[in-house]
Amino acid sequence: MAPRKLAAGNWKMNGTLAALDQIDQLVADQPAPGCDILICPPATLIQPMAARAQGRIAIGGQDCHASASGAHTGDIAAAQLRDAGASHVILGHSERRTDHGETDAEVQAKAVAAHAAGLIAVICLGETEAQRDAGQTLDVIASQLAGSVPEGASAANTVIAYEPVWAIGTGRTPTNDQIAEVHALIRDRLAARFADGADMALLYGGSVKPGNAAEIFAIAHVNGALVGGASLKAADFGPIVAAL
Ligand code: PEP
Repeated sequence: MAPRKLAAGNWKMNGTLAALDQIDQLVADQPAPGCDILICPPATLIQPMAARAQGRIAIGGQDCHASASGAHTGDIAAAQLRDAGASHVILGHSERRTDHGETDAEVQAKAVAAHAAGLIAVICLGETEAQRDAGQTLDVIASQLAGSVPEGASAANTVIAYEPVWAIGTGRTPTNDQIAEVHALIRDRLAARFADGADMALLYGGSVKPGNAAEIFAIAHVNGALVGGASLKAADFGPIVAAL
């Protein structure tokens, strides 16, 4: 089975109820998309967005706690995301790793919790610019992959997103060869570790736009994209979906 194609949007800390018009527009503009579509809005919008998405767009959280419930003020449990209408959750985004000091072990524990709640974990990996300049990219990605992805991962419950930290929100992207090299490494490691590792969807993320999406999607082992800024407007995200 080939990996499913996925166009995923990460709205980060952007959007209020008024932004749900973009979901109506996306649904109207993409009557028969050739891929799965996922939008991960702020937690406040998960429930209303799920109601507006008419089952045509999957909805996801941007983080979850590793515990099922308890005294964790400000956090959200995976089961609560699921209860609100989410089917996916982004884990280990570089902004979480940087802003909140999340480690690979914590990301892995969150992925276990997500799987237990029936969510698909979108696990993010990526090197910093300094690590790339030092020639450490493949070692960093291999290490994050080994440490962040739990033993229970499968093609049905896990998506991997390669997001170079220096490409997020900067307008800069790696060369096609650089993306291909990292995706090939991830594919090899997944196939060696998991029975259906060859079927797990691999996303590229970092300054994907309508103008570069088709070229990126043509790279081997790129099964879709995790898109930040260009996912906020249907007029930008629609053409990315169409390119996949
Ligand atoms: C992201 O936040 O995951 C991301 C890839 O952002 P952008 O597309 O804006 O670079």
